[in-house]
Amino acid sequence: MEPEIDLAAFKKIGMIQQKQKEYFAMRLRTVGGDLTAPQLKKISEIAEKYGKGEVHLSTRQGLEIHNVHHTNLEKARLELEPAGIYMGACGPRVRIVVACPGEATCRWGIIDTKILAAELDKKYFREDTPHKFKLSVTGCPHNCAKATENDIGVMGALLPRWIASFCNDCQLCVNICPTKAIERLEDKTAKTKKPGYILRKKKCINCSICTLSCPANSWVIAIKGYNLFIGGTMGKIPRLGTILKKLITSKEELHALIEKSLRYYQREGRKKERFGHMIDRIGWVKVKEELLHGKQG
Ligand code: SF4
Ligand code: SF4
Ligand code: SF4
Repeated sequence: MEPEIDLAAFKKIGMIQQKQKEYFAMRLRTVGGDLTAPQLKKISEIAEKYGKGEVHLSTRQGLEIHNVHHTNLEKARLELEPAGIYMGACGPRVRIVVACPGEATCRWGIIDTKILAAELDKKYFREDTPHKFKLSVTGCPHNCAKATENDIGVMGALLPRWIASFCNDCQLCVNICPTKAIERLEDKTAKTKKPGYILRKKKCINCSICTLSCPANSWVIAIKGYNLFIGGTMGKIPRLGTILKKLITSKEELHALIEKSLRYYQREGRKKERFGHMIDRIGWVKVKEELLHGKQG
């Protein structure tokens, strides 16, 4: 007689039972979607040896080997580990952290997404939560890693400043700003007799388009940091993340706010209630106040 399968224990480490009940999907732990070439070779080898020679890419940068018979799961896991490939997570807990390439390779990148994603993964991966809990780090407001669709979403952000003396009045910035946050003001009374450019801070979404596009380097970075969104989710009841704080300049403060947010959810969230839905139940004003100014978070 075959031993009984502990489905809950399997699910916790990302071994997910398929509709073909004897077969499982092995969800692997990736951080920011990064794997080395030798790791990919090993995964391919294991997929051929224990699966059907197929690998599935999930919508959150996860990598799964499908169609592994339950009697081969442990053997496959043990053969993956020496290559630094570990099992992922499923069910009500912290999942893998997704990230875009960020400033490492992307021209628009404002922050190092990979380092931050690795830090968050190290701190929180697989912690139990009332429902699934997803984190994302995206390098700028282009939002390629969909920070606003995750329970915690960190977005690289900056505030620009205009230096009058460099400007050649080409007006590119006015046309290129996606939210029309830059205005050209013709002030004939000014000493320079040159038009001025002003930033409407309320309209600015903190991207890097003006600072990277100005041909005269007239828009420079005044503040660089992180915008933190909480409570985003897709699924059956979608909800975009709400901004908890803009332009956080200290990484320590960012980590502290994420820590407070997660602990608050672990304490106050109801079983099978997503973080964003908990926020809506309690009320944004109260949640924001407690996270930004409360002792416990
Ligand atoms: S979010 Fe920004 S930094 Fe990240 S990949 Fe997209 S454009 Fe590049
Ligand atoms: S793009 Fe640069 S140089 Fe051109 S108007 Fe704007 S600030 Fe001036
Ligand atoms: S940072 Fe982006 S949104 Fe803000 S002024 Fe520059 S281009 Fe416009």
